[in-house]
Amino acid sequence: MRFPIALALTATLTATTVTLVPAAASAHGGAPPQIPTATGYGGAVATVDPTATAVGLDVLRHGGNAVDAAVAAAATLGVTEPFSAGIGGGGFFVFYDARHRRVHTIDGRESGPATMTENIFVDPADGLPYDFAEARVSGLSVGTPGTLATWQAAADRWGTRSLGRLLQPAARVADRGFTVDATFRQQIADNAAPFAQFGSTRELYLPGGAPPAVGSVQRNPDLADTYRLIARRGTDVFYRGPVAADIVSTVQHPPVAADPAVPWAYPIRPGDLRLSDLADYRLRFPAPTRSDYRGLQVYGMSTPSSGGTAVGEALNILEQSDLSKVSDTQVLHRYLEASALSFADRNRYVGAYTPQPVLDKLVSDRWARQRACQIDPARALTKPVPPGDITASGCTPALVGGKVEDGQSTTNLTVADRWGNVVEYTLTIEQTGGSAMVVPGRGFLLNNELTDFNFTGTQGSAPDPNLPGPNKRPRSSMSPTIVLSGGKPFLALGSPGGATIITTVLQVLVNRLERDMTLPEAMAAPRASQRNSAAVQAEPAFIAQYGDDLGKLGHTFGPPVAELGAATAIEFGRGGRLVASAEPVRRGGGAAGVVHPRG
Ligand code: GLU
Repeated sequence: MRFPIALALTATLTATTVTLVPAAASAHGGAPPQIPTATGYGGAVATVDPTATAVGLDVLRHGGNAVDAAVAAAATLGVTEPFSAGIGGGGFFVFYDARHRRVHTIDGRESGPATMTENIFVDPADGLPYDFAEARVSGLSVGTPGTLATWQAAADRWGTRSLGRLLQPAARVADRGFTVDATFRQQIADNAAPFAQFGSTRELYLPGGAPPAVGSVQRNPDLADTYRLIARRGTDVFYRGPVAADIVSTVQHPPVAADPAVPWAYPIRPGDLRLSDLADYRLRFPAPTRSDYRGLQVYGMSTPSSGGTAVGEALNILEQSDLSKVSDTQVLHRYLEASALSFADRNRYVGAYTPQPVLDKLVSDRWARQRACQIDPARALTKPVPPGDITASGCTPALVGGKVEDGQSTTNLTVADRWGNVVEYTLTIEQTGGSAMVVPGRGFLLNNELTDFNFTGTQGSAPDPNLPGPNKRPRSSMSPTIVLSGGKPFLALGSPGGATIITTVLQVLVNRLERDMTLPEAMAAPRASQRNSAAVQAEPAFIAQYGDDLGKLGHTFGPPVAELGAATAIEFGRGGRLVASAEPVRRGGGAAGVVHPRG
């Protein structure tokens, strides 16, 4: 995505240490390659950004494992993809441990303040929910960030390098800078009004009052200093020390500029995140979700993400018929229907506190049969479909409506190492640009993750599992997924895109497993997303290719959307052969690399 400058990464190898040094920009050959597909051996990295991919590959080349490389690459994304990821946000880390053949997860989701009430996003003045933008650009939307704790735990448990060491390449990129590309500039332009409200954000991303020019060098010395402070003194500086104090101050007293220059339609409200919320933050390590699909074992992220259960349920529904015997149109028809049914159930049942037996039921084959029986090969269901009644047997649904969510922020990365370990990691600050508040002097944006809660109930008279509450984590759609075959990795993938994450991951799997596509073809193919709304959301090329045939079955399409998702993936072939795959076009294209390239 980002066209980097200081990015010929050279490594100085001593007997026991590796020092990653981004070389001076032009003198040593400039930017690392930005290629969407790489094939070879010995480890692989796929991210949205060539700098982050290069950093990850360098770690692998010098003996680091997949976890080391994933942390170093993620920290770099915090510099080059700051509007989607960073230590001001949260995410979900999924790790396949090759030695023990086990999948582990880290829930590094942001949590709400201890004082958060169910009506935090309801205006006390009129009893109505705030407009989304009003809630987003405020202290109310900021949850305790979990990303740094995630990196620390991943490095401690499964890595081979200290976090301090893994932060160094990213700190150097932040110091020396990278070249602004069109995507980076556009993400700032799209946020010009909210960014202009805060002196700290304006200074960093609106120099001279406007987005930086494409081709200019973007530096972030404050973030470099923050990374180095953490490297020296540990993550306590962030959760208990001076950085915590700055985060809390930013949330409680948003650093609003005296002369914003660009008008903003809303009051900027403070939040009630406290030092005790940061000090009390704890990661969770939930068991992954698991569903079996035609002999493959699909592992995903459990609550508070709905990704694992929603992808798993949809796959189970699809598995109820033999897709190898139906037309391509029928495969797509069933993909859209399975997705709608799965979303109805997700909206009704899945939130941070969904009991495990309910989650287990949602990814069971029995439940899939109860849902799949509603699909008519000749006619699309009327949307929204009601969620299923999990206490009933047969095809009996309960009645309810649903909220359609989307969003296009977040970032995803996939890493494999020579030992067979795999990391699939999705991290976010929620909206592109998060809450729009850069913590003054620290160089990172704070998330607006708490707006992933439903502001008011969406399930009619039934309880809504995703309403705010004290210390609660908002429901996510992030779907980092690792697919095993016979206990060994077959495919790992994930994507950004708000609620469309679920459908993007599902569609890439359907493309790869059921539509006779290679992984790069499955990634590049045009996308459609049916999240239980009247009309399917789709990219123009999808509508052009499949719109007529699917229209005859009763599917309708909303206005085309330019792009859905920005996925990364790795496929594991025979004899250790790896295919690393990033987007060829979406979001400016991603970057894949392998340690030993071979076609
Ligand atoms: N906050 C969203 C989630 O957790 C992700 C945001 C996005 O990808 O746009 O599901």
